[in-house]
Amino acid sequence: MMGSDLHFRDKIPVAILGATGSVGQKFVELLSSHPWFEVAAVAASEKSAGKPYRQAVNWLMPSPLPEFIGNLEVQKCEPNLPCSVVFSGLDASIAGEVEAKFAQAGYIVISNSRNHRMNADVPLLIPEVNADHLELLHSQSYSKGKMVTNPNCSVIGLAMAIKPLLDKFGVESMNVVTLQAISGAGYPGVASLDILDNTIPFIGGEEQKIETEPLKILGKLSKGRIENCQLTISAQCNRVSVTDGHLECISVKLKAKASKADLIAAWKEFKGEAQALNLPTAPQFPLHYFEEEHFPQPKRHKLLEKGMAVSIGRLRECPLLDYKFVILSHNTIRGAAGGAILNAELMVAKGYIFW
Ligand code: NAP
Repeated sequence: MMGSDLHFRDKIPVAILGATGSVGQKFVELLSSHPWFEVAAVAASEKSAGKPYRQAVNWLMPSPLPEFIGNLEVQKCEPNLPCSVVFSGLDASIAGEVEAKFAQAGYIVISNSRNHRMNADVPLLIPEVNADHLELLHSQSYSKGKMVTNPNCSVIGLAMAIKPLLDKFGVESMNVVTLQAISGAGYPGVASLDILDNTIPFIGGEEQKIETEPLKILGKLSKGRIENCQLTISAQCNRVSVTDGHLECISVKLKAKASKADLIAAWKEFKGEAQALNLPTAPQFPLHYFEEEHFPQPKRHKLLEKGMAVSIGRLRECPLLDYKFVILSHNTIRGAAGGAILNAELMVAKGYIFW
């Protein structure tokens, strides 16, 4: 089913779990004018449940809170919501249990949390990179529901930038140093006195996610299971005083010889299933290479292609490995809510979500 056929029908009702949080608010903003989905319910913790959404939320998005969503009463995260698809921006402390309960009750769960990402039967999905991993859904054990996850917010940009290099030249190893935005820690997140005029060289659990999740994402689907990609990754993560947009300094060792021009061409040519299917949230060009030596920057480039594209720059030879470069992606759009919505669009187009 293609996008053009879909616009003539009613929209698909969806709910947002964790709708009051950093990612949840971005879901509300992006879904409020989505051509295929409409927000039928918002849910959060007991402290928010029962209140109108406008009262429960500390609305931080740049656009005004849509009136019809502001008036919705916040629900508890119980599987009795008036829809069959739920987007989850739940805190990881409860996401595992709550999301499994929804999937068990027959809902299609599209999650941003880490809890189910590495389960063997759960796709860790980026439509441009591994759309075929959706086949794992056929072997899931939830009775009627399904579970799909988004990778970690730093991993999405990283996997997208590495995929064309892997396909064309092979990648043996890489070193990644991140400079991650404050909004990545949720709301209210890091205290202002900790982050203003400061850089914190530690983000709990992040380095392990960056060293493991890409191996699954870039792995090959074979006989209904994922064979991990053979790639060694070393990561160091830092929280910096930037609102949105994760920057990553990457060095790679390639398997085959390639020139700088070969790498840039591979990035510029890169497109995936999201572009082939013309999905509404898909960027026209997933990867943009900048020649300017001081690009990419969070302030200037985080909203490239409505925050769904990855910016790349500063490609040069690396004296330790082969090449080094810098990437930037928006952590709550491409790295969370926007990425999850693109996953849902792919699932509609591939017939996993019914209209
Ligand atoms: P957040 O701002 O702290 O929001 C957490 C949400 O979970 C809030 O809506 C909160 O509702 C709800 N919640 C907390 N405890 C609950 C409970 N016991 N029962 C029901 N709901 C509960 O966090 P976030 O940054 O949006 O992140 C959400 C998830 O996405 C996390 O797992 C995070 O790791 C992941 N993620 C975040 C980013 C990012 O850039 N921020 C990117 C990718 C993935 P109340 O307001 O009612 O407490």
